[in-house]
Amino acid sequence: MPAKIYYDNDADLSLLKNKTIAILGYGSQGHAQAQNLRDSGCNVIVGQRPGSANYELAVSHGFEPLPIEEAARRADLINILLPDEVQGDIYKQSIRDQLRPGNILMCSHGFNVHFGQVEAPQGVDTLLVAPKGPGHLVRSEFEKGGGVPSLIAVGEGASDTTLQLGLAYAKGIGGTRGGVIHTTFAEETETDLFGEQVVLCGGVSELVKSAFATLVEAGYQPEMAYFECLHELKLIVDLFYQGGLSYMRYSVSNTAEYGDYTRGPRIITDQTRAEMKKILNEIQTGQFAREWILENRAGAPAFKATRRRDRNLQIEVVGRKLRSLMKWIAAKEV
Ligand code: NDP
Ligand code: MG
Repeated sequence: MPAKIYYDNDADLSLLKNKTIAILGYGSQGHAQAQNLRDSGCNVIVGQRPGSANYELAVSHGFEPLPIEEAARRADLINILLPDEVQGDIYKQSIRDQLRPGNILMCSHGFNVHFGQVEAPQGVDTLLVAPKGPGHLVRSEFEKGGGVPSLIAVGEGASDTTLQLGLAYAKGIGGTRGGVIHTTFAEETETDLFGEQVVLCGGVSELVKSAFATLVEAGYQPEMAYFECLHELKLIVDLFYQGGLSYMRYSVSNTAEYGDYTRGPRIITDQTRAEMKKILNEIQTGQFAREWILENRAGAPAFKATRRRDRNLQIEVVGRKLRSLMKWIAAKEV
């Protein structure tokens, strides 16, 4: 079934006229959503802890950041735009007790609500408005008069008023200019995790690492392996982005296209597809969420160790050197 998509005419900004919106966290999403809403005429307050660059940024944008607790207390719509792994604890410590019946508890990713780390009290509806892009794009497109397509979902038992307020909010951040897709907390959360695990982060990184290692072990120079297996990925992804698989295949050589059709299916096999289903199942049952929450509760030791190990891989070392030769790519270091 095709998704229901809302545009500007489906949303009424005046519904937010007498409401106060608290943006909790002035990071990637927070700084963009807060400014867009303010430019759309909404009453926005910011909850941001002092002592960080994000606090100073909020001040320099003309906000007077409040403690999270205070911002939550003063607002009608409370949007938690903190990192997902701290939301549960901060919610319980500083937000939950400030909520009153009729308030709306918002987020831009459903993980914590869907997996029960953030549970709204009686009389408080949950609402998700999630831009499908990073904060800087949400801001820059809005300033150009456009908007980043977004998702909207209301929690179980939420009223139609909440959906209407959500559409007004989406309009306020520019989302309805690009189109707002109606989804559910479950669908947003599960597809997001699946995408990042199987393709975007997990799948692609392992593919690149394994292909690089195969060439290097076979005696090819690591610099050559880096260019072929990592650097050129961007060219291909840009073609996907602009015109899908067909446009990529139209743009590359016939030799590359033939290799794609005949070799690709030998890399992603029935075994890989079976594993994808298993990973999806772990997401749907909450097994992945439990694992990640426990890992964080223990101080994330395995997570940090893997991060350290992978930063020193040969592909990373040679990549750092090669990127420094390519002035136009604005090389980044972590
Ligand atoms: P960021 O990491 O950019 O910003 C996090 C904010 O939370 C900062 O203002 C930070 O302040 C504050 N913060 C971090 N840790 C704490 C803490 N322990 N106590 C109090 N404040 C803290 O987050 P994002 O904007 O990326 O993510 C926010 C939400 O938006 C998440 O749910 C995410 O999934 C979702 N989202 C993100 C997208 C993206 O592209 N970034 C896209 C769509 C959704 P400080 O500077 O003081 O650390
Ligand atoms: Mg995502």
